Amino acid sequence: MKITDVKVICLRVPSKGERCTWGEDAVIVKVYTDKGLVGIGESDSSPLVVKGVIEAPGSNLYCYGLKEILIGENPLEIQKLYNKMYWSSNYLGRRGAGIHAISAIDIALWDIASQYYNVPIYMLLGGKYRDKIKAYGTFIPADEPNKNKDIAARLKAQGFRSIKFGGGILGDDPITDCKIVTAVREELGDDFELQIDLATKWRTYGHATGMFERLKHLNLNWIEEPIMADDLRGYAKLSGQTSAKVAGGESLTTRYEFKTFIENAQPDIVQPDITRCGGISEMKKIYDIAQLNGTKMIPHGFSTGILLAATVQFLAVTEQGDLIEYSQSNSPLFTDLVKNRIQFKNGYVTVPDCVGLGVELDEDLIKKFEVK
Ligand code: MG
Repeated sequence: MKITDVKVICLRVPSKGERCTWGEDAVIVKVYTDKGLVGIGESDSSPLVVKGVIEAPGSNLYCYGLKEILIGENPLEIQKLYNKMYWSSNYLGRRGAGIHAISAIDIALWDIASQYYNVPIYMLLGGKYRDKIKAYGTFIPADEPNKNKDIAARLKAQGFRSIKFGGGILGDDPITDCKIVTAVREELGDDFELQIDLATKWRTYGHATGMFERLKHLNLNWIEEPIMADDLRGYAKLSGQTSAKVAGGESLTTRYEFKTFIENAQPDIVQPDITRCGGISEMKKIYDIAQLNGTKMIPHGFSTGILLAATVQFLAVTEQGDLIEYSQSNSPLFTDLVKNRIQFKNGYVTVPDCVGLGVELDEDLIKKFEVK
């Protein structure tokens, strides 16, 4: 079997001329083979940059676009192709967008392999530990603190037993931060599993540690990305400082960055995104590093049903992977792009026994939102 083509599809939901915030764009990759099998992947990154990394013509030994080096290769040689892509793109890649693009291809290759061997991806990865995974709901908070009570109540009524919020104005102002967390905590009750995501907006160790103190009585399960993942010392000092766990790492790529982060920042929870960190292949290695260091992995995931399907297949095969993020985005790219998107029910998502990712894309929706 040979790879015959790699297509990159950039999607954008128009939002009245406004900038994207979360979920209004996406990039899908399709890998075609001479046996008629097609693999699907995605990257939660800047769509046009990912397209560039894949489609750029090679300019020297270390500056190949990914498509050029994949054509004619056997798609079943996944690790070999990962290494070839990494090596041949290392001037433009190695970290960041270069790895985001590799992630999408890697997921598509696992999709092809699963179809070819006619067994679920979780079987190729070593076998699943569970048939369902507990899911937590993520929402972006409303500016008015008390309005978040309604959102939290709605999620609780839907069956969520674990909730996170972050983005929006959270992190901008200490008093508002406290008001929002207090409002949500009041609504959910003292024992409900609640976590917050600062998207690095607390900026410094000093500010973050002050906020930890102010929120101490609100029994947060974890506090995510209080500061940049680059601030290894700041993270290390914050970890273990309160009863809330410290989480982070969604912006990092490759086992190399995660090794440095896990060993030096010592987070309680590490959160690679399977569509950014290097795909399924690299996620396995990152999981092993987390295990070696006693760090819990709870992947980041806030994009389309393709990301969701890949994350579910991966988490199912990890001994400790018992919690998954479930987006509350109302963007059609989350709700409708994958027609048979994995659904949340009674606190859990089910691990499908499908062959491949099993995602059925809505081609009409793609036509409607594709950016040419
Ligand atoms: Mg986050």
